[in-house]
Amino acid sequence: SKQIPRAHVAMVPTPGIGHLIPQVELAKRLVHQHNFLVTIFIPTIDDGTGSSMEPQRQVLESLPTSISTIFLPPVSFDDLPDDVRMETRITLTLARSLSSLRDALKVLAESTRLVALVVDIFGSAAFDVANEFGVPVYIFFTTTAMVLSLIFHLPELDVKFSCEYRDVPEPVQLPGCVPINGRDFADPFQQRKNEAYRIFLSFSKQYLVAAGIMVNSFMDLETGAFKALMEGDSSFKPPPVYPVGPLVQTGSTNETNNDRRHECLKWLDEQPSESVLFVCFGSGGTLSPEQLNELALGLEMSGQRFLWVVRSPHERAANATYFGIQSMKDPFDFLPKGFLDRTKGVGLVVPSWSPQVQVLRHGSTGGFLSHCGWNSILESIVHGVPIIAWPLYAEQKMNAVLLIDDLKVSFRVKVNENGLVGREDIANYAKGLIQGEEGKLLRSKMRALKDAAANALSPDGSSTKSLAQVAQKWKNLESETK
Ligand code: UDP
Repeated sequence: SKQIPRAHVAMVPTPGIGHLIPQVELAKRLVHQHNFLVTIFIPTIDDGTGSSMEPQRQVLESLPTSISTIFLPPVSFDDLPDDVRMETRITLTLARSLSSLRDALKVLAESTRLVALVVDIFGSAAFDVANEFGVPVYIFFTTTAMVLSLIFHLPELDVKFSCEYRDVPEPVQLPGCVPINGRDFADPFQQRKNEAYRIFLSFSKQYLVAAGIMVNSFMDLETGAFKALMEGDSSFKPPPVYPVGPLVQTGSTNETNNDRRHECLKWLDEQPSESVLFVCFGSGGTLSPEQLNELALGLEMSGQRFLWVVRSPHERAANATYFGIQSMKDPFDFLPKGFLDRTKGVGLVVPSWSPQVQVLRHGSTGGFLSHCGWNSILESIVHGVPIIAWPLYAEQKMNAVLLIDDLKVSFRVKVNENGLVGREDIANYAKGLIQGEEGKLLRSKMRALKDAAANALSPDGSSTKSLAQVAQKWKNLESETK
């Protein structure tokens, strides 16, 4: 009998390494556990700066042969005004790549058994293209069930309130979630006249026609939110929702060649167990010059060991490096005078980028001062490291609310009357987390979450099962079409 070719899944992330990393992990699972072939089409931007794609390239390095990656031709944003929001740019990247995506999908659909297209949060522009080839579209939602719930309830909130959400006096109660203040809503919801808000309003409708939504979170982490989403309510009837996380990069565990290990890992080797505070604001997070100064002095004042991934400050944007990780200037030039000398031995400062997963996995790491990007939070959970939440942009404030009010596994920094997180406060958080009683409590709660995460991904775990359901659907579909 003729052998049936392997089913093929196409994936389209949108720009931002925080979207690429988990999608690659999803691809690996589909290949290893369910024997699919995967092709990842990566939209790119011609931003004229030639910004480094190096971290992206590292993520795409040494993938299994069953996963192919194809960079789509760069799109131009020359016509856009400078103040166009990040979310709008991300969405436009895909919208402007549609014709090249169509061409690429056509080749795939004609030459292989294409069973699904997987897009991310910003990917609904690709729905129509998938429809042209009769391929079902699944969303891979790279943040929380709570954010997904907010998107589905947005049309309702949009009618209910006429002011900006941050001015709504009462916290909003999304079904199954902790109450959340409007001022903690994700950035694109903060300016209702902005194009980015309208884009998310349109997602609320478009998501309803997806064949399914996989969420990079897990049942035990957001039980209430998931249950409510799976049931739907009077305001919306969602497509099937599948908790499939935590899908985080594993990093290389078998790095035996010490020469190739990052200097910060060798430094961690020399430090006592759980003594180091890791400080990192994700791929895009940037601080103002004053805040960078305050953070440096706070870390110094704390007397705690720290490993700080420092990036050049930026006056206005908290996400200045989102589309290209490298700092424009030497970040060390912005540190307080004498800081590096005074903290030598106690702290290590590395410019721009670190092997974050290996750092979090390292036994010397005792806490994480994080911008609360969802991947960073999942990585911290997977390694049982408690967090000081310092949300900056995107949906990070919502993630911090989940960590603090619901899961109770972190401190949240307070911004003072000058709009800064003060050095004394920073010193106290650092001491409290690494040495204090409260830090111990947070650490033990994080350990429980670590176990829950491992369970979710075990062979019989909730996330393993829900991904298997998706895979089964795709395979059935395959037999129907033959
Ligand atoms: N990351 C890293 N080294 C760094 C900074 C970030 O490896 O110095 C990785 C981090 O482990 C995570 C991703 O980049 O997987 C950042 O994603 P996240 O969702 O936390 O934040 P975003 O960058 O999207 O704001």
